[in-house]
Amino acid sequence: MIQQIVFLVLLIGFSALFTVNIRQIKKNINLGKDVDRSSNSKARWKEMIRVALGQSKMVHRPIAGFLHILIYVGFVIINIEVIEIIIDGVFGTHRVLSFLGPVYGFLIGSFEILAALVLISCVFFLTRRNIMRIPRFWSKEMKGWPKTDANLILLFEIVLMFAFLLMNASDSLLVAMNSSYYTVEFSTPISQYFIPLIGHLSEVNLILIERASWWFHIIGILAFLNYLVVSKHLHIILAFPNTYYSNLESKGKFANMDSVTNEVKKMLDPNIDPFAITDDTTPERFGAKDVKDLSWIQLMNAYSCTECGRCTSECPANQTGKILSPRKVMMDVRDRVEVVGKGIKKEGEGFDDGKSLLDSISIEELWACTSCNACTEACPINIDPLSIIVDLRRYLVMEESAAPMELNNIFNNIENNGAPWQFSMSDRLNWKDE
Ligand code: SF4
Ligand code: SF4
Repeated sequence: MIQQIVFLVLLIGFSALFTVNIRQIKKNINLGKDVDRSSNSKARWKEMIRVALGQSKMVHRPIAGFLHILIYVGFVIINIEVIEIIIDGVFGTHRVLSFLGPVYGFLIGSFEILAALVLISCVFFLTRRNIMRIPRFWSKEMKGWPKTDANLILLFEIVLMFAFLLMNASDSLLVAMNSSYYTVEFSTPISQYFIPLIGHLSEVNLILIERASWWFHIIGILAFLNYLVVSKHLHIILAFPNTYYSNLESKGKFANMDSVTNEVKKMLDPNIDPFAITDDTTPERFGAKDVKDLSWIQLMNAYSCTECGRCTSECPANQTGKILSPRKVMMDVRDRVEVVGKGIKKEGEGFDDGKSLLDSISIEELWACTSCNACTEACPINIDPLSIIVDLRRYLVMEESAAPMELNNIFNNIENNGAPWQFSMSDRLNWKDE
């Protein structure tokens, strides 16, 4: 009975904490401006199933993609067992789903094979990250917490899988001993190899190992759930809404600012008297200076980023030695929205620390972007760093007049000569006399 009470307290406590944290993240995402991406739900579902569930973009790099799919499938399927653990924990039963008979034995056997595949994949990823020195895992923005975060989760999964296999090995030994309470037989294709390690132990010690592994498994899962909210692994959840709300427009199409487009249309329409227009549709801000000027989709993008660096490794600016890294842009946005969210929680809506996104994303980074869209194309979950870069540039140009000199010359020429070149309109047809 005491075990059941402890279990319930932990289950309710961790679940409540998770709910509170997720609500805060939702609030932070909603700090962004509203945009409507509700249209064409059929295409959106398809995109989500293809990209998030089917991981179609992961396999563009086949080895890493395949191993990632193994971890993903293994982790999700093995955790079906959590349902059984929760029922057992609440009602004090043991392997309650064993009523499924041979199907249960087969299921546990399949879980064990998947656990072994997850283990192998995690060891491979750890080696790849820490020993093979793949450049995108060693860039500046990956120092400190991002690196620790990636390693922690791989180590955690390895330990979790070991605990699962150890639990099964000790359980099967107890069944063979006819220990009371342990009566369910199941297939042990992998955990049988643990038996030489623990086969000599007494019944009491085996029960200790089985119970410790069982508790570790469920506490580990609950702790993992709460760890997600401070980790890049939030993508396990957010990859789904993120791909559902993907930009379905043609790749590379820029989003125009309605207010500017309307203004230009009015200027070009000879039937409109500009002095008769009274509506004031000027936006509060042109482009984006801080996270509140971005849209909620862009903020959700930031929270969904897996920090895989595929965008940065495809970025021509980064490849040619510029300081721009689209991954860093996404990480900076997430860090900033966290600061602003915490500030608002503490000081209310008027929170202002005198800083903005431009304190962490430099002007040099922004103007290094060629707007080629390779980052968006490469992202396995359809994140769009380019849209953020363009919005920040818009702010620099339209509010700060802080465009590079070459661009300012072009702007002046367009304004004065009606074309990007520095020739007067009256000289335009001179070529025909040459
Ligand atoms: S759009 Fe900009 S940030 Fe993205 S890959 Fe191209 S140059 Fe890099
Ligand atoms: S934006 Fe996409 S590709 Fe780039 S690091 Fe994040 S998840 Fe990876």
